[in-house]
Amino acid sequence: MIEIIGLTKKELTSVLEEMGEKSFRAKQIWHWLYVQGAKSFEEMTNISKDLRNKLTEKFTLNRPKIVTEQISADKTHKWLLEFTDGQRIETVFIPEEEHGAVCVSTQVGCAVGCKFCHTGSQKITRNLTAGEIISQFMLVKDVYAEWPSSSQDNRLVSNIVVMGMGEPLHNADNVIKALNIATDQDGLAVSKRRVTLSTSGIVPHIPEIARETGVKLAISLHAPNNQKRSQIMPINDRYKIEEILSACQEYQKIVTSRYITFEYLMLDGFNDSLQDAQELVALMKKYKIGAKFNLIPFNPWPGCHFKPSSNNRVYAFSKELEKAGFAAPVRTARGQDILAACGQLKSKKSV
Ligand code: SAH
Ligand code: SF4
Repeated sequence: MIEIIGLTKKELTSVLEEMGEKSFRAKQIWHWLYVQGAKSFEEMTNISKDLRNKLTEKFTLNRPKIVTEQISADKTHKWLLEFTDGQRIETVFIPEEEHGAVCVSTQVGCAVGCKFCHTGSQKITRNLTAGEIISQFMLVKDVYAEWPSSSQDNRLVSNIVVMGMGEPLHNADNVIKALNIATDQDGLAVSKRRVTLSTSGIVPHIPEIARETGVKLAISLHAPNNQKRSQIMPINDRYKIEEILSACQEYQKIVTSRYITFEYLMLDGFNDSLQDAQELVALMKKYKIGAKFNLIPFNPWPGCHFKPSSNNRVYAFSKELEKAGFAAPVRTARGQDILAACGQLKSKKSV
């Protein structure tokens, strides 16, 4: 049996042709899956009963199973989801006034092991498939009844942030496939401008994201120099800041219209001084990247020894970056009370 969600149009076409079916069926089926949100082959009424039976024998059409869900005081919604092999991940929906972002996971656990990240304390178990990645977004559309069949006309499930559990560029092939289905006009039709991929900086795959997907890019920078960055992100021993910034220049040669967001976690007494801000400005000016910052308040989790910077320090840091001409808003933490905020996701209990 093949899981049908996550097959590219080309892949689906070739399986159907092997079954002796016409290739236009692939487009029809895609329409049911991604435009109509069909959850079974029976719903595909313009396909003959005979073919629907054949499809049921050949393919599975699954959503991940909801194990638990929590809704935060600020309406952030978090699900613990389980796939058919029993592996679990978390998905978060962050609603705003007129839109909302689904924060999708790409791996069970993460191999990068950043010191400040709860997910990083959970060893990597496996990559998610393309289908498992986009089905998280589809599940949120189910929950909020945002398929055409529903009568409510609120449309909040609009954006995708690839910022859940895992390092997306350690699973680049499946992530690229998933994002292409998400942004295809015949697929989920999410505008590329509404999709952001965040990476700890797996350099070789950064230009590929530009070439193969064209989605927005965010880099988890978190320090103004290699010495500090290596202390909190072991991956920095492999890919240095200079290499990441050169790869960002490559990205912007291809996706010329978009700023790159540099995420900067504010850790009390570690990377939040005015000197740190000035060093950061000097670094960014040298590379002439169209850049903006996103200052992230550190979200604590059980067992982590870092402390969040005070509001005053965050404010002063932001002002210093703005003085140099960079946008540097402070990200509001969402869903902290249910451990749904950045860096708090984890799907295994600590032993
Ligand atoms: N693995 C990718 C994407 C997931 S993490 C990456 O690292 O970019 C999404 C963002 O949350 C990253 O910028 C990450 O550095 C940040 N983050 C991790 N732990 C955090 C914490 N405890 N508090 C706030 N942000 C955190
Ligand atoms: Fe992995 Fe990102 Fe967490 Fe680092 S911050 S451990 S790369 S999920």
